[in-house]
Amino acid sequence: MRRKLIAGNWKMNLGANDARAFVADLRKQIDPVAATLIKDRDLLVAPAMVVIPAVAQALAGSSIALGAQNMHWEDSGAFTGEVSAPMLKAFGVTHIIIGHSERRHVFLETDQFVNQKVAAALKHRLVPIMCVGETLQEREASKTVEVVMRQLENGLSGIPSEAAAAVVIAYEPVWAIGTGKTATPEQAQLVHASIREFLDDSWGKAAAAETRILYGGSVTPENIDSLLAKPDIDGALVGGASLKADSCAKIFRAGI
Ligand code: PEP
Repeated sequence: MRRKLIAGNWKMNLGANDARAFVADLRKQIDPVAATLIKDRDLLVAPAMVVIPAVAQALAGSSIALGAQNMHWEDSGAFTGEVSAPMLKAFGVTHIIIGHSERRHVFLETDQFVNQKVAAALKHRLVPIMCVGETLQEREASKTVEVVMRQLENGLSGIPSEAAAAVVIAYEPVWAIGTGKTATPEQAQLVHASIREFLDDSWGKAAAAETRILYGGSVTPENIDSLLAKPDIDGALVGGASLKADSCAKIFRAGI
């Protein structure tokens, strides 16, 4: 049985004061049911880099883990503006979102960068959440599976099957991110099943069965249950709806 993972990606929102208030509010809604939630799921928020220390403090003693939205693959060096895995780990970060579509499309991050970051995260025992997904143009040209397979092949190049349980893939169709257009559970399941097949071909059945595959793209309290009902959807990466404590809590508590 794969544990679900539900992660909130705050992007460049919520400064330290707002984030502290948010976490206090979220904890009021999550802490009382934490014992039930931790039986089958991991929960995570990923604040902006400079807000991580404040959120680490606010989360102390909670069952909600701390993630980051990006990192560099080297431990230190002349990389202006970047942050490394050891720096993040020092604040209790356990998960790293890697290759989010905004990083790929706005900051021109390549599959090769994504691959180096996944390898570095694993080296430091951080859980990489590697994002893949097609643009609207690619979907309309029937290239969804081709694009996602290329991103998987390059992003996971050289990553051994032993790492399968520690790797998380997030399928995030670019046309569904921040647009209010969610892939239907059936559309998402089709791609998730193709991703699982790819992992099976690369790593073997047992390893593929251990890897969690999240869906991301306009997830809300209203659609989370139908997405999680699909056999290959193991959780969600949530942007906009994770920015309000109430909707974030409802998504974290899905099915409870
Ligand atoms: C995201 O940023 O990963 C995301 C899925 O955003 P949203 O939920 O707002 O579509």
